[in-house]
This record gives sequence, structure tokens and C-alpha cells, in this order.
Amino acid sequence: MSQARFTSCIPLPLDQKKLVNVIEKAKDWALMHGVGMRDRKHFNKDVIQIAPFALLPSPFPRAEFEKAVELQPVLNELMHKVAHDDEFLMGTLQNALQVDEFTANLYDIWMKVRNEEIRQSLSLGLFRSDYLMQQADKYKIKQVEFNTIATSFGAISSRLPAMTRYILRQLGHGDLVKNMPENHALSGLCAGIISAYDLFGVPSAVVLFVVEEVSYNICDQRFHEFEISEKRPDIMIHRMTLNEIYEETQLNDKKQLMIEGSPVAVVYYRSGYEPAQYPSSKEWEARLRVERSTAIKCPSIHYQLAGTKKVQQALAAPGVLEKFMGDSAATNRVRDIFTGLYSLDFDESGERAVEMALADAEKFVLKPQREGGGNNMYGAEVREALLRMRHSRERAAYILMERILPPLVPGYVIRPGGPLPPPVVDIVSELGIYGVIIGTKEKVYQNCQVGHVLRSKLADANEGGVAAGLGALDSPYLV
Ligand code: ADP
Ligand code: MG
Ligand code: MG
Repeated sequence: MSQARFTSCIPLPLDQKKLVNVIEKAKDWALMHGVGMRDRKHFNKDVIQIAPFALLPSPFPRAEFEKAVELQPVLNELMHKVAHDDEFLMGTLQNALQVDEFTANLYDIWMKVRNEEIRQSLSLGLFRSDYLMQQADKYKIKQVEFNTIATSFGAISSRLPAMTRYILRQLGHGDLVKNMPENHALSGLCAGIISAYDLFGVPSAVVLFVVEEVSYNICDQRFHEFEISEKRPDIMIHRMTLNEIYEETQLNDKKQLMIEGSPVAVVYYRSGYEPAQYPSSKEWEARLRVERSTAIKCPSIHYQLAGTKKVQQALAAPGVLEKFMGDSAATNRVRDIFTGLYSLDFDESGERAVEMALADAEKFVLKPQREGGGNNMYGAEVREALLRMRHSRERAAYILMERILPPLVPGYVIRPGGPLPPPVVDIVSELGIYGVIIGTKEKVYQNCQVGHVLRSKLADANEGGVAAGLGALDSPYLV
């Protein structure tokens, strides 16, 4: 099936002179409002350059956008329940962790903490559910994945409506801004951190951001710090790598995680989601120490495990949603956003999935238990990998997913150092909806949807990570 097309919000191409002029304005707007990143190729801590962005907002069906927004609290609660269902998590991850060392390490920490006295039963989730649109009889959102750790771009994307409104006005299309939704992801996510801090209830406590050695996505992270500091001048925020946590924090006799004499109320991970972020046993030790402490973790280890691809696949199996959600209208709405998800375990259904994928590899994506983009396989790679792993236990570390073919839309992608004027290119958009949840196994204190991000990539790229330099930040234009 060939990919369908949307028309862009204004006729393209734009007059070249006008285009160049408005791009200069837009880039300056971006730089001056922190729609920026650090350069990976020529790293210099003192320099921030524009984050790649789509000049014009991309069309997105209003009803599907609203559906995604409405479903977020339902999904938050579902994932919260999944994370607290030990038996389900253990059963689901069992085969994958035999062959995937990273998942096994996370699982080990979970087991260790589970077997001790639980010091903190509250978890904080700053989640993001991601969608691509699929054409059936009409366009429908399909869930790409559900992220439970280090969900990014909530802050920068909160700036985008204003930036896009400015651009549209400069192009003489100010009337169109009425079709662009507001976005309060940043204040919503930070309110989640502040609520967790208050639930911790120790006045001198601090918040700890766990960060990478080098934070390329520094604007997005710092905006959270600035927002929290503005709303709550009493809250001090520390940034530390896992290695620094190992070297510089301690657990006191009350199992409080201590930094320079202050207990940590909330640990917010912006790192720790991929193997390279744990180069030695020290980082794993640090993770275990945090997990053992009284601090409220965002996410706790079981939240992170609930966010694995394997769990996503297990939720799509017959009867599983009903187990968590009952037989309700909401259950059907959630099932409707799922696309084909298949286990590759060594059993009958796993064998069937392998056969199916080998017969038509283009229709599928092969996904390992990884986060952060750039790990999946597509098309010919799916075939090669499955042929190679067919009789190897390694296969169970992957899931197979039906490939979603989103509609194309023409647009301009603006990158640092990109061509001026840029060509009109076909892009596809992925919507992310942010959710906040705070609760224990027994009680949910807060559960809400807080905002969105639209990320677009060139239509012929398999993946479009913005941080990886392949994607671009975008805004939905509701149609
Ligand atoms: P990660 O946790 O690494 O971000 P994702 O599941 O989001 O993993 O996959 C990364 C990217 O791959 C997505 O942003 C999307 O562009 C593409 N992708 C993932 N699953 C599918 C799918 N089923 N169909 C089409 N593209 C997909
Ligand atoms: Mg992810
Ligand atoms: Mg993703």
C-alpha cells in the first residue's frame, strides 16, 4: 500500500525570498527562546544551536489528537497497575532477561529491592505515549510505544506553539493559529515533580536529576530546573551522573539518600535508560543505592520494567487488557490504538510470528528491549536477523511489530547549518502525549495528561530521533 498524503497548512513551495527571510526570523526566535541543543559533532559546552524544527505545523486529525489526550490518564493507570503486578512482570520478562543482559540487570535490582523492606512505596511517572497515524478506512492513531523513563522534549515542545504562531504571522497566515493546541507539558511535568516532593514531606530535602556525562539536550533539561525553581524557590536541584552518585552520595541509617548533608526527595532520571549509560559496575551500584533509598524515583525500577517493549507486546495478547482494566469501553479504546504485536519466544505463536515476518519482512519492525532510538530493524534487516536468530534463544529478546505507514506531508525542515533555502521534503509525524502519575500500589494520588510533542522525520528515514539529529520538532495543526 502506498502512503497517503496530507496537504500542508499553507500552499507550498513558498516564495524563496520570503522563505529565507522567515527562516532567519524563526531561527533567531528558536535560539532566543531555548529551542536549542548542544552540537554533537563539534561539542562546546558554551554553544547552543537551534534544535532541528519543522518550519510549518504539520496537519494532524483533531479527533485523533483529542483521543490520544483523553486516553492518557487511562494509559497512565494501566501502566501503574502493570508495574505493580509482580507476577505479570516476572512472567512477561522471564524469557527476554535470559538473553538480554541490560534487562536482566534492571530485573536483578528489582528483585533485590523487592526482597527487602520497601522504603518508598510511592512512584512518580512522567510518561509519554507515542503514536503514528495509520490509514484504514480513516486515519487512526496507533501506539508506537509507551515511555516510562527520561521522556524528553516536554520543555522545548512547550515553546513551539508560540514559535509557530510567530512564524505563521510572519508569513501572513496569522488566522491559522486557531488550529494549534496550547501545550503546557513543561509546567505539568514539573508540577508532578513538585507534588512528589511535597508528598515526601521533608522541608530540607533536595531533588536530584540523573544526567549523562554530556547533556546534549540541555535546554529541555534545564527548563525543568528553571520552572521548578521559579515555582518553588525552596527546592534545590542537583545534577549528577550515575558515577557521581556512586562517588558522592550515601544512604544514612534511615535509608535516606544523602547529598551534601541533605536527603533526596525525588530522583528524576534523564539518563539510565540504555546500556552505554552503565559503563561499569559502579553505575549499577549507584542505581541500586537509589532504588534502596527512601527517595521517590521517577521512574522506580518497576516502572522502568513496565515500559519495556516486551511488556507492550504482552499487553496486546488476548485477555491481558481485560485482566488489568476489566471488560469496559475504555478497554476497547485502548485495544484500538494497538497495532499487531508479536512475541518471538520459543513456542507455537513465536514460530508463527517468525514465519509471518519472513514471508513479508517489509510489513514489520523488529524491536529489542532498548530505548533512545536507533535500535530497531526494518525490512531486509528483519529478514536477515530472523534467519540468523531462528534457532537461537537470542530471539526472545526481541518483539515483532506491525509496521505503521503514516501519511506524508510536504514541509520544510530547518537544521543548524542546513541549506538556505531548504527544499520542500516529505515528512511524517509522531505524536507524543505526556502523562503524570503519582501513587503507591494501593492508591493513586495524581493522574493526568499534561501536554504533547510532535516530532517529524523525513518520510524515507526509518527512525527520526531529534536528539540523534534525524528528526525535527514540530507542532500539530489540527484538521
Ligand atoms: P525507542 O524506545 O528507541 O524510541 P520506538 O519504539 O519509539 O523505540 O522506535 C523508534 C522509532 O522507530 C519510532 O520513533 C518510529 O519512528 C519508528 N517505529 C517504531 N515502531 C514502528 C512501527 N511499528 N511502525 C513504523 N515505525 C516505527
Ligand atoms: Mg522509547
Ligand atoms: Mg520512541
